[in-house]
Amino acid sequence: MDEESLDPDDWAGFRAQAHRMLDDMCSYLETIRTRPVWQPMQAQARAPFRSPMPAEGRTLADVHQQFMTQILPHTVGNPHPAFFGWVHGGGTPVGMLAEMLAAGLNVNLGGRDQIPLEVERQVVRWMADLFDFPEGASGVLVTGSSMANLLALLVARHARLGDAVRQHGLVAYAASTAHGCIAQALEASGLGRASLRIIPVNEHAQIQLPELQRAIRADRAAGLTPFFVVATAGTVDVGAVDDLAGVAAIAREEQLWFHVDGAYGALGMLAPPLRPLLQGIQQADSVACDFHKWGQVPYDAGLLLVRDGAAQLAAFSAADRYLRRDLRGMAANSPWPCDLGLDLSRGFRALKVWMTLQVHGADKLGRTIYQTCQLAQYLAERVRAQPQLELLAPVTLNIVCFRYRDHEPTVNALNAALVVAVQESGLAAPSLTSLDGQLAIRCAIVNHRTQARDIDALLAAVLSCGAQQLFERHAASR
Ligand SMILES: *Cc1c(COP(=O)(O)O)cnc(C)c1O
Repeated sequence: MDEESLDPDDWAGFRAQAHRMLDDMCSYLETIRTRPVWQPMQAQARAPFRSPMPAEGRTLADVHQQFMTQILPHTVGNPHPAFFGWVHGGGTPVGMLAEMLAAGLNVNLGGRDQIPLEVERQVVRWMADLFDFPEGASGVLVTGSSMANLLALLVARHARLGDAVRQHGLVAYAASTAHGCIAQALEASGLGRASLRIIPVNEHAQIQLPELQRAIRADRAAGLTPFFVVATAGTVDVGAVDDLAGVAAIAREEQLWFHVDGAYGALGMLAPPLRPLLQGIQQADSVACDFHKWGQVPYDAGLLLVRDGAAQLAAFSAADRYLRRDLRGMAANSPWPCDLGLDLSRGFRALKVWMTLQVHGADKLGRTIYQTCQLAQYLAERVRAQPQLELLAPVTLNIVCFRYRDHEPTVNALNAALVVAVQESGLAAPSLTSLDGQLAIRCAIVNHRTQARDIDALLAAVLSCGAQQLFERHAASR
């Protein structure tokens, strides 16, 4: 029998190729500023990705060449310092290397007795300490906050209602500014979207506490069972922070599970000037947060943290026959991460988080986080100083929503076209959002690489694209 494996026949040649690939990625990151943030793709750019599965392989060098010419130039560009769209982290060279090391080890972090589990547990403990969670807290790394929010809901439901989970009459609460994944989590859990009460927000884009209280009491009076309230630390649209301590007090009084969706904002706890804004997070029953946003860890890396570790374990523990635990041997070291969430096979995400914190340290990460907030204030100031522009939302953290002034009814269309034009220019990349029916140019400054000159470049692009839109409209109307 002709025995084969997928390892290289020529390790020396493979090593040389590996070094070329590493060099190319270092150069990519080193020179990222010189590239367009994003560029539109012609149909021909997609064509190579419509071909059938290859029966025969090609050399790694050949496939790498294709990666360099056909994939690398056509990403959304979030490592670029002038990327401001949505809430995307920039990644780091250290994180890139950690991914390589983790892939080399190819460990499965579902469980079993191995040090990588201790790495994940250490990361979880660091976060538990950051949020002042007690000794018995637990947590699990997941893809991102969408998954973490869903898992939190499942833990809360199990904790409040036990094994005999009732699907009917359970009610959850979140502000109108909550991320869409909260409603999705209710749907995926089987509780349904209708069991989520949407609470209005005040002028600071924070959940209205009296309205929350009123809704809970009305539901109770109607014979329903309020069980879960979500506060957001860093809303995805404008970067507002709900009054966490206020929601915590209501949750305590009403005996609701208090969950904080801190997807991007919770790591603000690393920045001393931001900590007062996040007061109350320490009282959460659970927190969802992302390392791949403000934490700058490469995608993907999210975290669910639960105050009562026993509750998390009770919701998910997975000791089936083939997952038998032991006190010695490789099946020791229980409970395992697979007991704390829904994934059984899972990669070594913890390594890139751990390495990022080990190499850069919490203080420097905190400083880069705060820097994005200072840049947001700088952008807001410059917007206020520009007669063509107006701010559309208060700037609490690192997100600035504004628009190019125009008359109704064309102002929305102008700003939508403007955002596309700026994106297509490759000079900067804001995204678009809708605030009370007003379309806003939304700049989320998340990337540690972003500097004041990138804000200046964004503004120059916005002003020139806005003027161009007006000019074209004028020309068309003549
Ligand atoms: C990004 C974000 C989410 C979703 O997290 P993913 O990591 O993208 O799954 C949820 N809530 C808020 C407030 C967010 O900013």
